[in-house]
Amino acid sequence: MADKRDYYEVLGVDRGADEQQIKKAYRQAAKKYHPDVNADDPTAEAKFKEASEAYEVLSDQQKRGRYDQFGHAGVDPNYGAGGGSPFGGGFEGDFGDLGDIFSSFFGGGFGSQRANPNAPRRGADTSATITLSFEEAAKGCTKTLNLTNIKTCSDCTGSGAEKGTSPKTCSACNGSGQIRVGQRTPFGTIQTQKVCDQCGGTGKKIEKPCRTCGGKGRVRSAHDQEINIPAGIDEGQILQVRGQGDAGVNGGPSGDLHININIRPHPIFERRGYNVHCDVPITFSQAALGADITVPTLDGKVKFTVHEGTQPGDEFKLKGKGIQRLHGGGKGDEFVKIVIEVPKDLSDKQKEILKEFEATTSDTNYKKRHSFFNKFKSLFGDEN
Ligand SMILES: [Zn+2]
Ligand SMILES: [Zn+2]
Repeated sequence: MADKRDYYEVLGVDRGADEQQIKKAYRQAAKKYHPDVNADDPTAEAKFKEASEAYEVLSDQQKRGRYDQFGHAGVDPNYGAGGGSPFGGGFEGDFGDLGDIFSSFFGGGFGSQRANPNAPRRGADTSATITLSFEEAAKGCTKTLNLTNIKTCSDCTGSGAEKGTSPKTCSACNGSGQIRVGQRTPFGTIQTQKVCDQCGGTGKKIEKPCRTCGGKGRVRSAHDQEINIPAGIDEGQILQVRGQGDAGVNGGPSGDLHININIRPHPIFERRGYNVHCDVPITFSQAALGADITVPTLDGKVKFTVHEGTQPGDEFKLKGKGIQRLHGGGKGDEFVKIVIEVPKDLSDKQKEILKEFEATTSDTNYKKRHSFFNKFKSLFGDEN
């Protein structure tokens, strides 16, 4: 684990690569190393996993930022010695109190109208990113997210006072949260009101702060949360989970959790809306003679008969084999596009057979070619 490869190196992109370049690089790697197409290469699966892991981090702006700053230790808590990632502890800080900082900026300045610090306030919305496989997004799934957010302290139930005690009325302001101060000016002393600096305007004083939350009444902590991902969700959509953001203050409601959806590209399928597109290569003799072929779908393999005389680019539809529409309403379709592969590296015998075959063909075998040359002749006359 100590010699984990650099994620940018794994995907073969430079550090300034944009979202599209990263996606493209991953798509190529996934196609190349997908275990389904590399059954005979035992190293392919490890390479596929390595590329998927790199994509998971580099396609997520937050994770990529941490990776750029701290390397593997920034995105993997188990990486390096002693599990001492810079995010394990000491990261709590005062993020949850930004609201308080702002209100003291905007409210405190001129000593008058300050928002009531005891009023219920809604908790902040939080966000997370989830990376799904193509199939998970198509069919829906349940994922466990490790979320770090602010919760009401369970030891003091949010009061901030040590267990068994409760906040006392502030003696400096008698509970009003405001104190009067005299300011001497050339016109005499002017009385102004300002926020009580002993209690910060709450009118209450905590004598023994709760040891768990340091008197803040809220704590930042991590927990696992199961999230139901609905079938049909697509790349770039945001799943809103009500009430799973930060806890509110003074009995206010919790904020919401916004989950950004990332979907790993599939080695075979491409999604367009609720339809799935897939290129299937067949041989030119299969195309000419017709053949029974096997076609992949999200629900497994299906048999399909390619008609005699199938042309490159011919597309057929497998009704209802696409992606479940979000919020019901059936499924999209799968479109299979025929790619005709011209054989390479022919043996002498194969070349001989083909030349023999070519000598037997006529214009009726090649109608497009025939019509093209007729138009050609009418343009330039008969002499080539
Ligand atoms: Zn507490
Ligand atoms: Zn006070």
